[in-house]
Amino acid sequence: MDFEDIIKRAYQSVENLENKGQLASYIPELARVDPTKFGVHISTLKGYHYGFGDFAEKFSIQSIAKVLSLALAYERLGGEIWSRVGVEPSGTGYNSLVQLENDNGIPRNPFINAGALVICDILITLLDNPKEELLGYINNVCSLKNIQYSPKIAASEKSVGYRNMSLCYFIKSFGNIENDPDEVLDFYFDLCSLEGSCQDLSELFLFLANGGKSVFTGEQIVATIKAKRINSIMQTCGFYDESGQFAFKVGLPGKSGVGGGIIALLPQDYVIAVWSPKLNEKGNSYKGMKFLEAFTTLSEVSIF
Ligand code: GLU
Repeated sequence: MDFEDIIKRAYQSVENLENKGQLASYIPELARVDPTKFGVHISTLKGYHYGFGDFAEKFSIQSIAKVLSLALAYERLGGEIWSRVGVEPSGTGYNSLVQLENDNGIPRNPFINAGALVICDILITLLDNPKEELLGYINNVCSLKNIQYSPKIAASEKSVGYRNMSLCYFIKSFGNIENDPDEVLDFYFDLCSLEGSCQDLSELFLFLANGGKSVFTGEQIVATIKAKRINSIMQTCGFYDESGQFAFKVGLPGKSGVGGGIIALLPQDYVIAVWSPKLNEKGNSYKGMKFLEAFTTLSEVSIF
């Protein structure tokens, strides 16, 4: 497959579209990002790497990081994790409180904010130094080792994080947060503040296209059965309340974040990462979604 040609054609088909949508301005630091940025990078299991546009520039990966916190918690705790968080699409926004009361504080899945907060709580219980250990786990997976927390973004989100605070305290009231909610929130805001480029991300997530094994070190990062399940949750829950549309139009498991990044993967083949900061009304990158739709249309390959 000539990925360079396909990426260039898909990029060009989207490049001059009206740059619709909004920056994630509810996080003040994210309102300052240049909305014209647009980059893409692909990495394949066979060792092919190609980027176009602003692919080497770091951005706030936000909820894309929730896949990594899930991978670490799932690998360490195993199936017990599913007594604390579900695997169903929520059908609501990423920061919604509405289902939690009926569901007794068990979030529908690990990628909505409520579920990611529970995963952070699990990691705090399991690890001595959760922030350092998570970062070490992430950078151990990729060859570039560029992923870092952004104290500025974390502080910015914390300064207005009332919704996440409400979620965390509400879940605590049902007993599904074991640790101090402020400690959980602090870790959560750091998790969301992680920064990396499209190049970093496409290399980083290759282990999930490779049955859980790092292509760089040969290390089994998560068991193959767990990689399958993480990919399936990405497929059904990776795009907030637009996961069905993403499956319909793109046909790959993936995860987006409100920083405008998206990663998507074809098992046994590649990971592609795209970044364009303006978000559609569902909170997904407007151009990123259009690009990936064009990419799998032109390549004529998807998981379906
Ligand atoms: N830090 C963001 C929040 O909690 C994450 C949202 C996202 O990327 O889905 O609102």
